[in-house]
Amino acid sequence: MKYLLALDHGTTSSRAVVYDCELNPVASARREFAQYFPKPGWVEHDAMEIWESVVGTGREAVAASGIAATDILAVGITNQRETVVLWDRETGRPVHRAIVWQDRRTEDYLAALRECGKESFIQDRTGLLADPYFSASKLHWMLREIPDGHKRAANGDLAAGTVDSWLIYKLTNGREHVTDVSNASRTMLMNLQTGTWDTEMLSLFDIPEALLPKITPTSSLLGASAAEWFGVPLSITACVGDQQAALFGQLCTSPGMVKCTYGTGCFLLKFLGENIARSHNRLLSTVAWKLGESPIQYALEGSVFMGGAAIQWLRDGLGILRSAPEVNELAGRVQTSGGVILVPAFTGLGAPYWDASARGMLIGMTRGTTSAHIARATLEAIAFQVTDLVTAMDKDSNHPMQLLRVDGGASASDLLMQCQADLCGVQVERPENIETTALGAAMLAGLGAGVWKSAGELHDQPNRMTLFTPAITAKDRRGRLKTWKRAVRRAQHWEQSL
Ligand code: ADP
Repeated sequence: MKYLLALDHGTTSSRAVVYDCELNPVASARREFAQYFPKPGWVEHDAMEIWESVVGTGREAVAASGIAATDILAVGITNQRETVVLWDRETGRPVHRAIVWQDRRTEDYLAALRECGKESFIQDRTGLLADPYFSASKLHWMLREIPDGHKRAANGDLAAGTVDSWLIYKLTNGREHVTDVSNASRTMLMNLQTGTWDTEMLSLFDIPEALLPKITPTSSLLGASAAEWFGVPLSITACVGDQQAALFGQLCTSPGMVKCTYGTGCFLLKFLGENIARSHNRLLSTVAWKLGESPIQYALEGSVFMGGAAIQWLRDGLGILRSAPEVNELAGRVQTSGGVILVPAFTGLGAPYWDASARGMLIGMTRGTTSAHIARATLEAIAFQVTDLVTAMDKDSNHPMQLLRVDGGASASDLLMQCQADLCGVQVERPENIETTALGAAMLAGLGAGVWKSAGELHDQPNRMTLFTPAITAKDRRGRLKTWKRAVRRAQHWEQSL
């Protein structure tokens, strides 16, 4: 029997899963890593800790599976996207903490670009909106911050990239500096049409090309890990952004299919195929994947910054939960939020608002409000935000969504999923295995290693689903969405309403 190893590096934890070639998980390991918040709106990770957590969980999962490393056919890497690492090529050590996708420190810089009228140019070239979310402005900031940054970058003394390129660099002991096209499409430096670094975007952000990795297909032979990490060299045959991995893991491989992942943030992606669709409702055009030499496939995406992270805030910020899953018991104690509304704009608002200046708001409390109402309002807030994405996606399309496939840690909540079905007015389908990110990476690695000849062969995998059906009236839905919209407007204009 041969096996596939998925290395799934998320925003808050790294996971590794060993799958057999029928895609049954055999063993897994997981490790959380530190989050750094040096200033309001700033979020950083220690890139060495990222690397150690990935290689550490990889080794633990292989040891727990009891298989010999020689039986691992291939490795697939999937990762938090947009987060940037900058390191010294000579020493292989980071020269700054990684700046995380949630970080807003470059908002003023991007606001200046928007004021100069660059937004439509950026959108046209990259499919993205001029927001601090993406890698380019973060890398620009780092190069200015470190001594002689630009000089060292132009000389080729430094290397940079999204986390996938850092992990492959470390796994191959510095032999490969590559990134796949799905990750590169999130940097704001790649030309969406051609799948290559765009010289005008590089010059707009003043980033020398010598700093950046080579862009490769998502699924193909990307390199081999050095023998010291797993005992033998292992072929790395897939590298893919986490949301695209989940899209593939959910087998959304026919145009029009949609999934939403409820992790730290929430990410709604619709697979488009070979055609790039341009959104008129502030969604993003992005790369889904590129399988070997076949053409690039695209997706439309909407992202919410505070998804499961809002539940973590109840745990860590308010201290009303000991663990995230407890939110369901607490919120379940009440039938409604009792008029309480949470707009979790703690790091601004993502799609479709793209408002970095919005701030979190908890409103509608009375003397009768309890932690249970706040917990319920938090789950509802996640579902309201995803509903905004579904509405935007429907406006961009001639075919309204019929079914929403869901996955990710917070999709384990039945209460949240029922609320989602109610607010969207569409059926919500949850697979038995909600870890579709790792699964997608394993599938893509298997394709890259020739286990399957095409994605079509993967559709035969059995999967049990739970279905959530809308249970409120259209009138009720409209009323609740109207109230939510008004609350969002307040959170956007909070300074004026003080
Ligand atoms: P990521 O890959 O972004 O690190 P995960 O897919 O692991 O995220 O999901 C973690 C998120 O899911 C956390 O933010 C947590 O609050 C939430 N979560 C985990 N278990 C549950 C649960 N049973 N009910 C509701 N939310 C949950």
